[in-house]
Amino acid sequence: MKIDVLTLFPEMFSGVFGSSILKKAKEKEIVQYQTVNFRDFSDSKHKTVDDYPYGGGAGMVLKAQPIFDAVECLKEKKASSKPRIILLCPQGETYTQKKAEELAKEDHLIFICGHYEGYDERIREHLVTDEISIGDYVLTGGELGAMVVIDSVVRLLPGVLGNEDSPITDSFSTGLLEHPQYTRPADFRGMKVPDVLLSGNHQHIDEWREKESLRRTFTRRKDLLEHYRLNDKQKKWLKEWEAEKK
Ligand code: SAM
Repeated sequence: MKIDVLTLFPEMFSGVFGSSILKKAKEKEIVQYQTVNFRDFSDSKHKTVDDYPYGGGAGMVLKAQPIFDAVECLKEKKASSKPRIILLCPQGETYTQKKAEELAKEDHLIFICGHYEGYDERIREHLVTDEISIGDYVLTGGELGAMVVIDSVVRLLPGVLGNEDSPITDSFSTGLLEHPQYTRPADFRGMKVPDVLLSGNHQHIDEWREKESLRRTFTRRKDLLEHYRLNDKQKKWLKEWEAEKK
């Protein structure tokens, strides 16, 4: 996968691309990262990238020209190559694991990180394929949002995580939150690990995990259950918990 990031602050990415799983993915040649300062594409004498909003008002607006030119330069010359062009923006669709799984199937992603008051609307209307928000709050720039999306996508690429870190049991991938986890010691200051996890009985352990994953989702994120297909055993557990609440 090729990942290009258009930003006015490329230095923000060196720590993230140079650490942990994102670094390993690059070393394994599964992914290539490139940051592009779109100021370099400005056709104005002073390399400006923003201007006052038409109609007046507070703040500066990112101009269309440097961003259009930078994206056009990054697109492959081949007509068959269709990168996803992702605008980070608080007005976009709220980012989810499902979207990460969708983006992980692509071979070229281009991220556009905004700043200032926002973007010239023509960027949104005529250049991008996706608008992503990482949550209902406003950041200073799109860089942190791009990092969140890139991290969550790259860890899904085949070969990036070892089997032991497989993302398939992660929260949201299964449709539920993940079950609680414990590690040694079995007794820490009198706080004990559930007996079943020490039993060595894998059937019982799997059942406990299934139940606790569902319980955690029921207590913390009931909304996720609206889209989840419950088996008979899970329906029975839910009924019991609903009854306990009454
Ligand atoms: N005036 C804009 C509005 O109200 O929609 C907010 C602009 S914000 C200060 C500057 C930039 O930060 C945005 O263009 C976007 O790239 C990024 N940004 C801010 N909040 C974000 C969020 N929740 N998700 C993704 N990007 C965000």
